Amino acid sequence: MIPDTTGMKCEIVQQKSHRCGYEAQMLLTGAKIVWVETREQMEAAINDRTAMMFFLNLADPRGQIKREEFVKIGKARGVPTFMDAAADVPPASHLSDYVKMGFDLVAFSGGKGLLGPQASGLLLGNKEMIEWGMPCISPHGGIGRGMKVGKEEIMGLLAAVERYLKVDHDAEFRLLESKIKYIMDVLAKVPGVKTEQFVPEIANHLPHMRVDWDPAQHKLTGEQVSKQLLEGDPAIMLPASQNGVTISVWMMRGDEHRLVAARLRDILAKA
Ligand SMILES: *Cc1c(COP(=O)(O)O)cnc(C)c1O
Repeated sequence: MIPDTTGMKCEIVQQKSHRCGYEAQMLLTGAKIVWVETREQMEAAINDRTAMMFFLNLADPRGQIKREEFVKIGKARGVPTFMDAAADVPPASHLSDYVKMGFDLVAFSGGKGLLGPQASGLLLGNKEMIEWGMPCISPHGGIGRGMKVGKEEIMGLLAAVERYLKVDHDAEFRLLESKIKYIMDVLAKVPGVKTEQFVPEIANHLPHMRVDWDPAQHKLTGEQVSKQLLEGDPAIMLPASQNGVTISVWMMRGDEHRLVAARLRDILAKA
């Protein structure tokens, strides 16, 4: 039984450019990761110990082996392909796109774009392979027990997926843009502050905004502003850059964006 992999296939092949800090979750199963860069290296790394090929969807642009080629190699060599697409809805079509493309297993977070429970996720694709995973998780005592997803999360995620499949995504997108517009209008009144909306290409494909300030006019770094926001009440957490911060509004409820705008304005106006 894993993590004891005696007698089992126990190697995972992953492109180096597809590392993202979640490798420990693979190693926990007792597997060993073999890192490759080129197609030749990948072909050479696959052998009769290879259990799986791992693909990080977000890393597609920076890897030498792209999605379709990756799936082809897996099929030709008889190795299951797994895709981590944790943060990659919206668009909703991603829930089926990659399975249709031929990935055997595709995983999504329940608590990101789907807005479901944080401690839940979706594993989609090959039914038989998903069933192989069942003995590993609750109510059984396999290795997944330590990451138990409770009944409450399971039903919560089901409700989140049902909502997600019928919601008006364009209207949600416009609502997020209107929240960003509100924050931009508030910050426009602080001299030396620039704002810009952006939408990440793959992961978290939703409206975000960047706030940058002129360090000559506002003598605080991004880290310092971020720290002040975190130490305030309520605590607000924004990722910092050199002289700026990034704001994502899609987890904000009700009027929370107004609070963020006001706090950021006050801190920058004083700096
Ligand atoms: C968020 C994320 C995870 C972890 O997913 P959780 O559902 O938060 O546990 C794994 N991989 C990637 C690429 C992620 O963005």
